[in-house]
Amino acid sequence: MAHRTRLVWDDGFTAYNFGPSHPMGPARLALTTRLLDNLGVLDQVEVIGPGVASDDLLATVHDRDYIAAVRAASLDPDSADGRRGLGTEDDPAFAGMHEASARIVQGTVDVCDAVWSGEADHGVNYCGGLHHAMATNAAGFCIYNDIAVGIQWLLDHGAERVAYVDIDVHHGDGVERIFWNDPRVLTISIHESGRALFPGTGWPADIGGPDARGTAVNVALPPGTGDSDWLRAIESVVPHVVAAFDPDVLVSQHGCDSHRQDPLAHFSISLDAQRRAHECLHRLAHDQAGGKWVALGGGGYELVDVVPRSWAHLTAIAAHAPVSSTTAVPAEWLDHVRETFGREGPPTMGDLAEKDLPIWVRPWGMGHNPDRPGDAAILATRQAVFPLHGLDPWFD
Ligand SMILES: [Zn+2]
Ligand SMILES: [Zn+2]
Repeated sequence: MAHRTRLVWDDGFTAYNFGPSHPMGPARLALTTRLLDNLGVLDQVEVIGPGVASDDLLATVHDRDYIAAVRAASLDPDSADGRRGLGTEDDPAFAGMHEASARIVQGTVDVCDAVWSGEADHGVNYCGGLHHAMATNAAGFCIYNDIAVGIQWLLDHGAERVAYVDIDVHHGDGVERIFWNDPRVLTISIHESGRALFPGTGWPADIGGPDARGTAVNVALPPGTGDSDWLRAIESVVPHVVAAFDPDVLVSQHGCDSHRQDPLAHFSISLDAQRRAHECLHRLAHDQAGGKWVALGGGGYELVDVVPRSWAHLTAIAAHAPVSSTTAVPAEWLDHVRETFGREGPPTMGDLAEKDLPIWVRPWGMGHNPDRPGDAAILATRQAVFPLHGLDPWFD
């Protein structure tokens, strides 16, 4: 049987490496691929290794001067002095950074191409999802914005409406900014409030530019948000707006730094809830986008316990070979973790006990309480954008 799901992977992706003291260690990517292999999921997908995006492709989103600056920093990392965000603490320059970053972009464009042309139903690039990169500068560990280049490629090749959903704990600011005034692109970001977390943006009142009102959607949840409120936020905003928008294709960013063990943010989310969110977006692609789905990675800084399991679930779901969260983590993967990192890995593919599954999420239709911070955040977003899509903010 022909594989209907394409995964982008190449060992060259681990060259996207800001150095040993930077939180975004490339080990997370290699561990994810190894876990997929050990789970038997790698056999269920078509694996392709991408080339390096051309400057012309990058320039569909990024300005030429910025690309030249990345190339210069890539050749001579010591010359990067913080201009255009390069050579900063968040985005240190490293040799080969242009090629490593442009390879990630090409990977995302390749899966967009496969999904759009119908060669594949779903495409996964967990090395991509670099949502903070701006048209003119690096930001937040992101050099080139593979997501925006992928979405622009879809628009340039016939897509009329692209829906983008971002469940990374940080606001998807780069993608939102690039398509701020483009009515063909719906961007939805569910994140920790900018009051507490980088990049400090993404408020309910930010709804898109004058030609595209309602096509930027932001849910800013309080620090400490747990499974039930997080899933409620996703499930009571995302499917409604996406259905009203009626996209040709769904692109989603699955940063897993919402997890309770993540060192950079302050949510309290389990692997099991992340798995459910991945499933929700998969279902949404089938229900609202004719099954056309491009799923990307993003943030995630607990490199051993969290990232590999979360994106292994994502890939398995996309491969229509889901792995239950009570499945034991394969012994060979745990052996590798022990040998390489000198520590134990997680015993099962989820965090919660079987008795706590499925996670109970109160449907919005059962009512809401504006005195609860989670409900207040959801309601603020619904009030800001639902009427622009002909939807009722108060009741489902
Ligand atoms: Zn993030
Ligand atoms: Zn599917």
